[in-house]
Amino acid sequence: MENLFYLVDQVNVWQNLLEILEKESNGTIDISFLDAFQFAGIEGSFVKLIAPDKFRQTWMDSHYKTLVETTLRDIDPTLTGYQICIANESQKKEIPQLNLQPVSLPKKPKVSHAKKELPSLYGRYSFDSFIQGHCNEVALKTSMAIVQNPGEKSMNPLYLYGSTGLGKTHLMQSMARYLLLNRTADHIVYRTAEQFLNDAVARYKGSFAEKKKAIAYYTDTYEKADILLLDDVQILEKKDHTQELLLHLLDSFRLHNKQVVLCSDRKPVELTQFSEKLISRFEEGLTVSIDALDFTSRLEILKNKTADLSFPREEEDSILRYVATLPVSNVRELEGLVAKMKAHQELMKKTLTFDYVQSLFNVQVYSETSLTPQHIIETTASIFGVDPLLLSSKKQNQSLSLPRKIAMYLCREYTSETLQNIGSLFNRDYATVIASVKSIKKELDKKPSLAEKLNEIRAVLRLS
Ligand code: ADP
Ligand code: MG
Repeated sequence: MENLFYLVDQVNVWQNLLEILEKESNGTIDISFLDAFQFAGIEGSFVKLIAPDKFRQTWMDSHYKTLVETTLRDIDPTLTGYQICIANESQKKEIPQLNLQPVSLPKKPKVSHAKKELPSLYGRYSFDSFIQGHCNEVALKTSMAIVQNPGEKSMNPLYLYGSTGLGKTHLMQSMARYLLLNRTADHIVYRTAEQFLNDAVARYKGSFAEKKKAIAYYTDTYEKADILLLDDVQILEKKDHTQELLLHLLDSFRLHNKQVVLCSDRKPVELTQFSEKLISRFEEGLTVSIDALDFTSRLEILKNKTADLSFPREEEDSILRYVATLPVSNVRELEGLVAKMKAHQELMKKTLTFDYVQSLFNVQVYSETSLTPQHIIETTASIFGVDPLLLSSKKQNQSLSLPRKIAMYLCREYTSETLQNIGSLFNRDYATVIASVKSIKKELDKKPSLAEKLNEIRAVLRLS
């Protein structure tokens, strides 16, 4: 797939940033403050800037850093930040008057024309920055297929669902972004269901003129759209009238082979406060889930999101594996862990060693005496990307029996539990534990891949 970011003129990245912020901020950002910085090129992943004076450098760091860094990344995801040096006399350009105001992220401007929608998506989410894993592979591939060929009956509507923080909005906005850039003749509309609700309700509020305006806006935005993407539809629960409107929209879109993409935090059937008709419309096309994060996906996401952090080379792998086993349930929380490490590295100038990272997340360091079978089971299961509960089930497939045997082996080697107790944790008898331990010991000599896997688990559990 074409890399959308190549569309951006990389050389003129600072100018680009100023234009985007000016457009999006609706006057809430003092662009002249930023304009006083001179662009001095790109070095590695940093934009080099020349500040007119020390004061502005400090002010930039304390008030504009996040905004500038986020926008730079939107323009080009390979950029991680900026570096500033102070201008010498000959570099000073005419400096505009300082107008120091608090800075907030730009508000999305109200626009109705498709082309103008692109800046309102911040350019933040794109397929290029979406990391594929086992848990989201189908959702990603389906989304990419739909943007190539929108309106196809079997995939219309696309109903995407999954728990919070797993990337639904990221995927939907990536679709919208791709469509906006590639189908310029079409009117592409991405809205949250909350905006849809407000726009629907606004048609009945205020003076005659206000109602008229709201009706026109609703018609232009939703009824006349060629492709509609509606995020978080679960919030329309109990909103019977708005549900009715959505039902009409869906019918009309499907009739005219116009694509609709919906997302929600649950399956259609689980939307208990929705009309049956609407639920059946949701299910009429394709329903795809984004599943809970498995270990490999966590690791992949962490690798990507920590690309601008530096760890001691020989520890990097174990650090990432360790962080991947922390009890987080979604990507947003993983990003929180990365942000914490980043803050300690950049702001507190700490070296992110394994021990430091571990102390940061304040998790118990296992010694052989404090290690419990539960830790072993959870870690082993997450490294194999399986549900820990399944290790105690009667299921016998290969994907479960190997981690189960390994977990039994580790429990036997590193805890003082009896064979009987270990067996009962897995719903097995002690003889099965003996057989499993024996089989792992035997296999270990023959299979280097098994030894490697065991080392991975030991590294995460900090066992020698
Ligand atoms: P949701 O809409 O499902 O609640 P979001 O799309 O808002 O979740 O995702 C939460 C955060 O996690 C966002 O910053 C998003 O970029 C990031 N994220 C989620 N999934 C992925 C992924 N597969 N690759 C990269 N970033 C992701
Ligand atoms: Mg969302």
